[in-house]
Parts: sequence; structure tokens; C-alpha cells
Amino acid sequence: MPKQRTVASAVTATGVALHSGVRVQITLKSAPVDHGVVFRRTDLTPPEDIPARAELVRETRLATTLATETAKVATVEHLLAACVGCGLDNLIIELDNLEVPIMDGSSAPFVYLIEQAGVVEQEAPRRYIEILAPIRVELGEKFAELLPNPAFEVDFTIDFAHPAIADDQCRVRMRLDEADFLTQISRARTFGFAYEVETLRSMGLAQGGSMENAVVLDEYKVLNREGLRFADELARHKVLDAVGDLFLLGHRVRGKYHAFKSGHELNNKLCRALLASPEAWRYTH
Ligand SMILES: [Zn+2]
Repeated sequence: MPKQRTVASAVTATGVALHSGVRVQITLKSAPVDHGVVFRRTDLTPPEDIPARAELVRETRLATTLATETAKVATVEHLLAACVGCGLDNLIIELDNLEVPIMDGSSAPFVYLIEQAGVVEQEAPRRYIEILAPIRVELGEKFAELLPNPAFEVDFTIDFAHPAIADDQCRVRMRLDEADFLTQISRARTFGFAYEVETLRSMGLAQGGSMENAVVLDEYKVLNREGLRFADELARHKVLDAVGDLFLLGHRVRGKYHAFKSGHELNNKLCRALLASPEAWRYTH
């Protein structure tokens, strides 16, 4: 039976916030059994805790943002996905701004940071969410669903008609344990179009955005000089986002995540639909 885990020691890193462009410092600290993952805004007086819970998701445009009545934290999904991949259950994430730094646009820098801190087992078994009956949410042609399955598995299709992305690179289907996440998914970067970046900048967003932290495309090609990390990097990143968004359930899912064109909004609707359907799941070890 897998045990709960946290970091062995505190570790700090700095990076740029995607939207405000300011430098943000984050510190990962150990947390006790059954604590879960909690963000702590140390720049507020007094510091405020924001638990990584689906019920606290307030905005899903561009990134997943959590908010209590008095504090918020944005762009949580890539760091949460790294926690899943590194096997963490309990963690305090201190940050001195309202945005988690974007790093290179993937989970890999956070994985590296967690590996620097070290991971230790705790004296309690991990609890999983076992899916007992299908749960599905839709938004026009988009959908996301959770289905009973003995292990966590993903089947994600993006609809991305673009000359640089072959049709057969738009679907990721795989069993996804922690080791698979680290090797297959964690390095996949976020992406966007150059014209979108311009629009976002004019709205005061994406001030920290660059080809250092995203795959940027124009109408015809990938603009990053180094190209893609995987031919299906875009679809893999959507899986990364989903892994982070689903961890807002507070536990790993034992079941299959199946989605078409899903994103943060639909992923959160799926979490809320599941939590509102107690007959569709149970805790298991
Ligand atoms: Zn993302």
C-alpha cells in the first residue's frame, strides 16, 4: 500500500510570473500527514493559506486560479502536476506574489526542484479516489469524463488544425503512473499563437511570456528555434494541465480520464461534478 509523501527539506527557487512579468520566489516545505497541498501567500499580512482544492477555483481563463475570500493564487496547474509526478501528497508552497512562476512553461523545473528537496514517506497510507461510475461534462463539442479503470489512464484529443502539427500528433493515450509522467509528460510546454501573445500583452497580460517559457506558433510553423520537445508536445501539455487540475480533487484518481478539447474550465467542472456525485467514487488505498 503506497504511503503518503512530502519533501525531505525546504527548497527555494525564483522565476518570472507569466502575466505580471514580476519575479516570484517560491519555497516548498514539508507538511504533515493528511495536510494536502496548500499555497501560502507570504507577501500578505498576515500570510494567507489557499488550499489546492477544486472548490476554490475561481478563474480558468489561460490558467487555473484559486481564491479564498481574501487571497488568490494563479497558474497553479504545472506545479501541482509536478507534485503528482514526484509522488507528493502533503506540501506547503510559499510564494511572495499571486502567480506561480511559469519557469520554462512545463513541469520539469518543478520536478527538478522537488528532486533537490528530496521526497520522504510518511506514516500513513495514501488515499486514492476510485471512480465507480462514469462522470461526464460537456461544453459544446468539448467534453471531459472520468471512467472506472484499475489504474490512472488518459485519452486526450486536441483539435488543432495546423501545418506544423500532424493530425496523428493530436491524441495522447497512455497509462500514466508517476514514472511515466516524469519521462513522457513533465517536459511538455504550454503553447500559444504569436498573435494571441500580442493581444494578451495589449491587455496587460503575458508580460513575462516569451519563447523561453512557451511554444509559440504562427500560422505556418513553430517559431521557437529549438523546435518541439515531442512531435505531440501540445497534446502532452494538455495532459499535463489535466493531471494538475485533477489533483485539485485532493487525491490521485484511480480511473480513466477521457477528453476532447478540454481545458482548465472543463477540467474544473469535471472535478466539481465528481465531488457532487458521491455515488460515483469512493476513497481507496
Ligand atoms: Zn498548462
